[in-house]
Amino acid sequence: MKKERCIALYSGGLDSILAIKIIQSQAIDVIPLYFATPFFGFKALRNPEDFKMIHCHEYGICPHVIDYTDDFINTLINPAHGFGKYMNPCIDCRIGMLKRARELLEVFNASFIVTGEVLGQRPMSQRRDAMDIIEKASGLRDILLRPLCAKRMRATRGEHLGIVDREKLLDITGRGRKAQIYLAELFGIKAAHIPASGGGCMLTNKQIAIKVKGTINRFMSQAPTRYDIMLDVVGRKFILDDSTVFVVARNEQENEVLADMKYPGNVFIKIAGIPGPLCVLRGEANQANLEIASGICLRYGKGKGTKGLNALWGADPHQMREVINARVIPDEYCRRLQIDFDVPD
Ligand code: SF4
Repeated sequence: MKKERCIALYSGGLDSILAIKIIQSQAIDVIPLYFATPFFGFKALRNPEDFKMIHCHEYGICPHVIDYTDDFINTLINPAHGFGKYMNPCIDCRIGMLKRARELLEVFNASFIVTGEVLGQRPMSQRRDAMDIIEKASGLRDILLRPLCAKRMRATRGEHLGIVDREKLLDITGRGRKAQIYLAELFGIKAAHIPASGGGCMLTNKQIAIKVKGTINRFMSQAPTRYDIMLDVVGRKFILDDSTVFVVARNEQENEVLADMKYPGNVFIKIAGIPGPLCVLRGEANQANLEIASGICLRYGKGKGTKGLNALWGADPHQMREVINARVIPDEYCRRLQIDFDVPD
């Protein structure tokens, strides 16, 4: 007999894992979609195959990774339902992902959509009114099933038709995780593999929010590109002029992340001959900006305290052939160029 099929929004968090397990336990085929942007799912964006393998191995869930960056940047410009505490446009974010999932129903031959939402768990997007708005605006009336709190919600079409057994759905509410941890054990998820709470969306981080808001303001009514936005999630950021930013890696891991950003318009800088940060200049790579940038690069590496050293620069971080003298720049001047933009606490 043909198995019923649904699509699930998979975030990699415990709630979405459990929502999928609950539906799978009713012998329904689940297609998990993982939406990735530089703000959430950056690792998956950089290496989707690794991400998929890890989740297949740890949870038996093998997600399709969807690069959602460009849609999400448009959402960030002017979200109809506003922002949460910082730059997180949660309601519009959910609506956007669900709309995309709805478009894929036919592609996957699926008849409904599942999420791990829990009534009352998140202040912005998981209040009842917000959940209703999300369901309606995404065009999913009656086919959006939230298994963890389904018994607190109206029954969906799948439940009416007997495709989903409503009796086996749950009525979890609120912010606690006790019920979810218990369920995780029932489903055989190892304690070490239970994801930490908190979601991990960088837009709920004040420092990142400050940078993102600065980027959006810089571009005014236009959308920044993904390459501009990516420079907000890594390193120390400096504004050299209206159209030029400079980012300095803070550790080895960030060096690796920046080294992967070989995108049009990015210029890499590094102090020659000594260990130190990899840096990216984006915008006007003119002599004046290159001199300031190389001075900042010197300030944050092992060359600090010298009287100046040579810096290498170029479009490929592994083959920087141009040379410029990195002069000492006073700390105070570096600080003045650092992002400083107020977001409410
Ligand atoms: S926290 Fe981030 S990923 Fe989650 S709904 Fe809000 S904006 Fe989207």
